[in-house]
Amino acid sequence: MTPIKFEISSQSGEARAGVLTTRRGVIETPVFMPVGTAGTVKGVRFEELEEDLDARIILGNTYHLWLRPGIDVIKNAGGLHRFISWDRALLTDSGGFQVWSLGALRKISEEGTEFRSHVDGSLRFLSPEVSMEVQAALGSDIVMVFDECAPGEASHEDTERSMNLTARWAQRSKTAFDRLQSEGADTGRRETEDLSGRQALFGIVQGAGHLDLRRTSLEQTVNIGFDGYAIGGLSVGEEKSLMFEVIEDIAPRMPKHAPRYLMGVGTPEDLVEAVARGVDMFDCVLPTRNGRTGQAFTSRGKLNIKNAKWINDQRPLDESCRCTVCRRHSRAYLRHLYIAGEMLASILLTHHNLAFFLDTMRGLRQSIRSGDFPKFRREFTERLGANGE
Ligand SMILES: [Zn+2]
Repeated sequence: MTPIKFEISSQSGEARAGVLTTRRGVIETPVFMPVGTAGTVKGVRFEELEEDLDARIILGNTYHLWLRPGIDVIKNAGGLHRFISWDRALLTDSGGFQVWSLGALRKISEEGTEFRSHVDGSLRFLSPEVSMEVQAALGSDIVMVFDECAPGEASHEDTERSMNLTARWAQRSKTAFDRLQSEGADTGRRETEDLSGRQALFGIVQGAGHLDLRRTSLEQTVNIGFDGYAIGGLSVGEEKSLMFEVIEDIAPRMPKHAPRYLMGVGTPEDLVEAVARGVDMFDCVLPTRNGRTGQAFTSRGKLNIKNAKWINDQRPLDESCRCTVCRRHSRAYLRHLYIAGEMLASILLTHHNLAFFLDTMRGLRQSIRSGDFPKFRREFTERLGANGE
């Protein structure tokens, strides 16, 4: 038995609508996964994630949870699901990207990455084996391999070296993962009728903006064999056109019957365009992070709530949004809250932004199923140019 099942129900060009069955529930794809870095989707209560927003899967960050509160605290609580009281699916990243983004503070060797903790300055060491151990202790339903990310503008030579290291780390991740599963280290184990109850492990394709290396990395990753496949190392400073070139080339070559996950991307238009190229899963901090800085994503483009032009605007953030914020509050009120430094401003903007991202995915799924995806894509893109008006 496998840890997850993935079935594609409809297709429109490369765009796919499907169902991902995990040991903690069924997830319709394409799906957007809100990011819960430190065991919380910042500013959002779990009741709202479940009831109002109906998020079926959220992310946890291995790096952050490992450093604080630490694995012992989470193990003692019975795993991350129990610790945060979330019974739906969880995906954890490997910590590789966070360590990478520390830049000068890290030292990479064949064995792994040495870095200084941003919490207390202590010297720490993260490797494929440590990452798998931490993710088993967290008990997430989907585990990511430990990879190395090359910068967007990396040369062919540097990218190749990094990609080959990623392939060796992927194999070590798989070996450590299998051992941990057989030792019963996974705190999130759950028996279901037709799934193995184990964690699922996804591989990551690297190779920066070099298509030949991306293809090699894909081959290396598929040869090891994973439950799902991700495209990593995009949206890290490269041109957007290059990002789409990579997605367009790689996504359709990824195994058809496994979920395809584009890591850390992106804006609403990025999601639609990546779905059109065959991607099934997404995560991004944009809806939550930008919510805290006063930016709302709407069906008529981005809107900055600080702007004086909303001072007496009685309209909701988005007239076509049915979220609880848009049904209740005006732009004028939200602007007032933001300017006054009230914490409710961040909470309400974050809520709306997540609702918009999740609704966009719902719309995408419906349009793929009904055969209207090309029309949805065209109209969605046209409306985004309206600057919130
Ligand atoms: Zn709304």
